[in-house]
Amino acid sequence: MNQRIDIDFRSDTVTRPSPAMLQAMMAAEVGDDVFQDDPSVNALEAYAARITGKQAALLCTSGTQSNLVALLAHCQRGDEYIVGQEAHTYKYEGGGAAVLGSIQPQPIEFEADSTLDLEKVRDKIKADDYHFARSRLLCLENTRYGDVLPLDYHDRAASFCEETGLALHLDGARLFNACVKQNVDVAEISQHYDSVSLCISKGLGAPAGSLLVGTEALITEARKWRKMLGGGMRQAGYIAAACQYALENNVQRLAEDHANAQLLARGLSTISGIQCDPASVQTNMVFITLDSAETADRLRAYLAEQGIAVLGGQMMRLVTHLDIDAHGVDKMLASCRRFFSARGPVMLPAGGKPDPSDPLTFPRG
Ligand SMILES: *Cc1c(COP(=O)(O)O)cnc(C)c1O
Repeated sequence: MNQRIDIDFRSDTVTRPSPAMLQAMMAAEVGDDVFQDDPSVNALEAYAARITGKQAALLCTSGTQSNLVALLAHCQRGDEYIVGQEAHTYKYEGGGAAVLGSIQPQPIEFEADSTLDLEKVRDKIKADDYHFARSRLLCLENTRYGDVLPLDYHDRAASFCEETGLALHLDGARLFNACVKQNVDVAEISQHYDSVSLCISKGLGAPAGSLLVGTEALITEARKWRKMLGGGMRQAGYIAAACQYALENNVQRLAEDHANAQLLARGLSTISGIQCDPASVQTNMVFITLDSAETADRLRAYLAEQGIAVLGGQMMRLVTHLDIDAHGVDKMLASCRRFFSARGPVMLPAGGKPDPSDPLTFPRG
């Protein structure tokens, strides 16, 4: 990118550490975390376990690694995990569970509310028969495309897993967005899961780091896999200090990102040439549809000249985060208005949320 980008809607992963977070990192007391004697990592893991109501936690390099070590810890070679068709773990993590764990995925379609229909899951659970892989785990995702899982679903999923003997993992990359949206404590959701993966490097603003939480036994197993995957960092306390700062200071402010997403969606919905439904925006993601991929290319280039970055083609995903304030949203709206007012009326295709079978579906992250 040549132009200087100062308003970046591509993802909430682009957030950079604030001066206060950097200060916390600089002040961190560190040790060697592979020997488990980095005090900042140990404190962070204890804190994460406490707030999620779990026995233990493990700092991982990324959400991909955190999900992968969870799957490797839960499942043996020849086991199977049931997962949503467009789920991050299944589709956007390089097939790691299959490649590195010989764990067979059994994907099924998501419902419109981002749940997996538990009766459809039941139909996929394989009988105890030597022809079949062993169905071992159910993996859910919250938020998904910015949508939150209904609160009563967690309990239903947990009861279902207890009944059927499956373990239950939550890819909670943006779980704190759901907690803020639904005004619940993270433990209220995490209590229903055997393990939860949390990204601290997205809207919470840490430069890197994800946390896996679960039982002591599971985390001990996950720690072994993390080492094998090259995730044993030494003076990781600098990263842990950033994550600690993020968890203590940047959770409640996610509400501002949600408000800015609303502001953005409402503004974009009034622009002729953009299809956007503000009512579908639940947290920090706004989806828009344009009349063609070519328009999208031109809009992307036009916005880049104004220092604004967006991602996607005819369907775009715009993500708000702590490095975009209401002023940035206004600038984006003004730029889009200018771009579209210079053109005649446009025909828009049917739009709304992304259609996962659509080849135009953007990359995630
Ligand atoms: C971002 C994300 C992850 C993990 O991504 P990393 O880039 O590896 O940290 C996992 N699941 C979902 C749903 C995500 O959005």
